[in-house]
Amino acid sequence: MALPRLNDTPKYSMVIPSTGKKIRYRPYLVKEEKVLMLANESGNLESIVNAMVEAVVSCCTPKLDPRFLTTFDMEYMFMQIRAVSVGESSDILLTCPHCETDNDITVNVKEAYCKEVEKNPKVKISKDVSLEMKYPSYSDFDFDNENIVEEFLFNSISAVCTKEERFPLAEETSEEIRAFLDSLTSDQLKSIDDFISEMPVVTKEVNFKCGQCNEEQEHKLQGIRSFF
Ligand SMILES: [Zn+2]
Repeated sequence: MALPRLNDTPKYSMVIPSTGKKIRYRPYLVKEEKVLMLANESGNLESIVNAMVEAVVSCCTPKLDPRFLTTFDMEYMFMQIRAVSVGESSDILLTCPHCETDNDITVNVKEAYCKEVEKNPKVKISKDVSLEMKYPSYSDFDFDNENIVEEFLFNSISAVCTKEERFPLAEETSEEIRAFLDSLTSDQLKSIDDFISEMPVVTKEVNFKCGQCNEEQEHKLQGIRSFF
């Protein structure tokens, strides 16, 4: 006889940051938590990302295609799901910039947010050449490439446009893309880097009074790793 399955009703809802679409979700369960724990213990970035993506996909309704979710969607959604699964608070250590004492701080991960995305982002790199940019998905990443900054660079450009032509990067080899990037001046490369560093990211402001020197500190948590 089949036993009843518990907790599979998606009774919570959230908005996907990059699309503004509302979806429903359930907490992650023991089966997903096991995968997450194993991945965390391994310390391997690819396993950690895969476990997070799998948990988000299994917990959300209707079914999501992870290729169409940005890295910050994934992190935001995972944190919302984690909040209803194991609790909204996370205890972290923040170092006081004034006296360098570590302070124990409890943050509410459910209050993390992502700033709004730019629609059809572009970066102009010269009078005649502009780049169509995109917000990468973890599905785009090659985790064998140890240079994560380069992976962001490769996966954030969707096309190179001249006055006459548009070259979608999906049709180019990584050697071709690398050669193109190598041909830029450092100023041009900086405008691409600026786009990447301005990309939305899970964020929360944390204000605390240092237990040692009593100074009020303002701190910004950015990126999923800073929350745990
Ligand atoms: Zn202090």
